[in-house]
Amino acid sequence: MAENMQNDLPVVVIAGRPNVGKSTLFNRLVGRRQAIVSDTPGVTRDRKEGEALLRGKRVRLIDTAGLEEAAPDTLFGRMRASSESAVSIADLVLFCIDARAGVTPADAHFAAWLRKQNKPVLLVANKAEGAVATAEALEAYSLGLGSPLALSAEHGEGIAHLMGEIADRLPEGPGRRRARGDDEEEERPAGPLRLAIVGRPNAGKSTLLNRLLGEERMITGPEPGLTRDSISVLLQDEHGPIQLVDTAGLRRKARIEESLEKMSVSASIEALKMAEVVVLTLDATLGVHEQDLQIARLVEREGRACVLALNKWDAVEDRTATRNAISYRIENSLAQMRGIPVVAFSALTGAGVNKLLPTVRKAYEVWNSRVTTGELNRWFEEALERHAPPLVDGKRLKLRYMTQAKSRPPTFILFGTRAEMLPDAYRRYLVNGLRETFHLPGTPIRLQTRGTR
Ligand code: GDP
Ligand code: GDP
Repeated sequence: MAENMQNDLPVVVIAGRPNVGKSTLFNRLVGRRQAIVSDTPGVTRDRKEGEALLRGKRVRLIDTAGLEEAAPDTLFGRMRASSESAVSIADLVLFCIDARAGVTPADAHFAAWLRKQNKPVLLVANKAEGAVATAEALEAYSLGLGSPLALSAEHGEGIAHLMGEIADRLPEGPGRRRARGDDEEEERPAGPLRLAIVGRPNAGKSTLLNRLLGEERMITGPEPGLTRDSISVLLQDEHGPIQLVDTAGLRRKARIEESLEKMSVSASIEALKMAEVVVLTLDATLGVHEQDLQIARLVEREGRACVLALNKWDAVEDRTATRNAISYRIENSLAQMRGIPVVAFSALTGAGVNKLLPTVRKAYEVWNSRVTTGELNRWFEEALERHAPPLVDGKRLKLRYMTQAKSRPPTFILFGTRAEMLPDAYRRYLVNGLRETFHLPGTPIRLQTRGTR
């Protein structure tokens, strides 16, 4: 589900205190039973995401329920902590209150905070089946968030109306987040950076995840594998939100021992597909294994940005030698990983982990790089002069010019007579040149060829 969720859809976030019916509303809007609903306030759940179709508009819906438990002191503090990162990416916030309970101090507090976030808010008074709660609903005006929309998520009353109201408040359809630029195929979603942590079993992925989550700590669901596709966790750094994808894959630890190794690769594939940047985590005390290379090759094949994380650095004796040996092995086994950013740390003690997210951001930038056609062809002419294209079947290839078709990952098209016959060695020469000249370390580079006549 999350795999094909489009990143440029408008984001609608459901917020409110525990037990007002956020998950029930989420289920109603998404139309499938995805979130787990429970009577116990604050039952620990993962944040749910789903796609909903509202009056013909597709939206990405985020349910913040269940994160309440994961943080500070007061109820308001917990509500805020759980919603902050989601609200930061929201195009619209559905703020839910319980129409039967009326406005509570926590609601009022949260509303005051929400008003300051400068996000469109739709106030929803839930549990209003049979219009029982008119007086309480009126009270909701005091929140300063406009007129409340009374409905019953559980009984399905007022849902169609709500859908219309949401649709009316959203910016026009997908594509609105297209980056400006001269190339119309360029698409750079403004949503959170999507990050996956992959690696072999016991490399320390879960420990790293917990370390990154810090205060928010790892949220465990009631049943492994139950809603694994829709689970996501948001982190925040100074540049904005980062979405950790497939944390369920991490959590759902090898139940079946015999296929442990296989599972880690297949779980990695799923995570990779959802991610933009991949942190390939190694147990540095063990060096590089064939399976690590296998995962790295998948990252390359899927065209993702990659950061190499050397974990358990606290347990490494000769750090210089270890770092060199690992870098050497990776670069020699995987030409496309040349210059890959490497971060060494201890997820266990936390030492060095603060370097990880800045490195991830940098890798993301590289992966998003654009080279202008002018720069590209100035370099290209020089490259042709330095090394003339080889003869193929006794005839010289006539390579004419190059253009960058897209980024994410950087993809170039080479035009020329019989360009499609480009020998591998010359292709490597050009790719290495592109990598060095335009500072594209550690990112997959695609070079396509187009024959012209
Ligand atoms: P959340 O913690 O905000 O996600 O709340 P849940 O969706 O888990 O709902 C909390 C409780 O309120 C559950 O027992 C639901 O069955 C109940 N509930 C949800 N919506 C309604 C509603 O429209 N009317 C009534 N009476 N109960 C509701
Ligand atoms: P996963 O299978 O990749 O999720 O690995 P875990 O996070 O479960 O970690 C596997 C084992 O390695 C656990 O016993 C951790 O305590 C240990 N571990 C994780 N990170 C570090 C670290 O930085 N240093 C050391 N010495 N041990 C670590």
